[in-house]
Amino acid sequence: MSSGAAKVVLEVLRGPMDGARQTIGSSHISVGTAEDDDLTLPGDKDLAGAKLEITVVAVGKLKVTADKPFRIDGDEVEGNGEAKTGSIIGIGATELMVVEVAKDSGTRAAKDGSDAGDADSGVKKCPKCGAANDPNAPWCGNCGRDL
Ligand SMILES: [Zn+2]
Repeated sequence: MSSGAAKVVLEVLRGPMDGARQTIGSSHISVGTAEDDDLTLPGDKDLAGAKLEITVVAVGKLKVTADKPFRIDGDEVEGNGEAKTGSIIGIGATELMVVEVAKDSGTRAAKDGSDAGDADSGVKKCPKCGAANDPNAPWCGNCGRDL
C-alpha cells in the first residue's frame, strides 16, 4: 500500500471537454491528448501533443509543468508554475479548474482502539477497482473513488 496517496479533482471549464470532471487518485497527473493520460482532452487540437504534468505538493497546492507555455489564473507561464485549489490552469483551448487537492497523510495515529465494529481483515476493498485500501482511507489510493 502506498502511503501518502493524493486525490485531485479537476473540472474542465472551457474547451472540447467542457463540463467534464475528473477525480484522479494520484499525486502525479498527466493531462494531454494521449489515451494513457490521466485526463485526456482528445478534441483539443491546440494542445498539439503538449502535455501538462501536475504534481501534488501539499494539500491545496500543485506544481504544474508543461512542454509549452500555459496559463495559471490568466498569467502566462513557461516551464513550471504553482497552482492551488481554485486556480484555473489553461493550455491550448482548454481551461481546467482545480476543484480539490487532498492528500492522504497515511496511517494516522488516530486509532484509539474503539474500532467501529469493523470485523474485516483491516483492509477496505475498493468497489470500483478492487484495490486494497487502509480502512480509514476516505478514498481509493489507486483510482480515487470515494470509499
Ligand atoms: Zn479503486
